[in-house]
Amino acid sequence: MGLAEYKRKRDFKKTVEPAGKPLPKKVKGASRFVIQKHAARRLHYDFRLEMEGVLKSWALPKGLPWKRGEKHLAVEVEDHPIEYEEFEGVIPEGQYGGGTVMVWDRGTYYVFGEQPLKSLREGKLHLVLDGKKAKGEWTLVRIRGRDGEKNQWLILKTGDDAKPPSKKLEDQSVKTGRTMKQIADARDAEWQSNRLEDESPTSQFKARIREAIKKKSKR
Ligand code: MN
Repeated sequence: MGLAEYKRKRDFKKTVEPAGKPLPKKVKGASRFVIQKHAARRLHYDFRLEMEGVLKSWALPKGLPWKRGEKHLAVEVEDHPIEYEEFEGVIPEGQYGGGTVMVWDRGTYYVFGEQPLKSLREGKLHLVLDGKKAKGEWTLVRIRGRDGEKNQWLILKTGDDAKPPSKKLEDQSVKTGRTMKQIADARDAEWQSNRLEDESPTSQFKARIREAIKKKSKR
């Protein structure tokens, strides 16, 4: 619930009641989160929380809601390894999740209540995000899917409205500053440089040696 209600009812220029401390920044127990923008068959955002040594993950087809009371679908997906939070690049076409991935936002998160894992199992996580773009409270709630699926959640904007990123920031990596197109194009460049490397005198020389060894062993 947070302090939104409390704050809305009071004008702290006029009352000497405490306004409530700002949202916790680096709280003990805060862990990292990352949101990756993923242009797969359908564009979506992957919301990941460091927990239990892995990244608990949800796919958000519409990204985060920004206005208090708004809710968006969040589909729980498989845990990802911690290192995945650094991943930005292109998943080759034909591979699972093929498409461009951007590190869209990252920072620390905090779960209200003492046991984040218990909250996760009970299907309700009340979060404070302190990212570059996402700042404030959100709540993840598990719902029952149409066919009884257990991976359906909602992410709700709780607390106050949050400021959505500008159009420019929407298409900018917090890791490298690149746009989705720049990330996709960089992969093409990478491929070209690999190809060039294969044609370099050194690798041609190595290839000739390999050929020679093969021929020799056949004799
Ligand atoms: Mn994805």
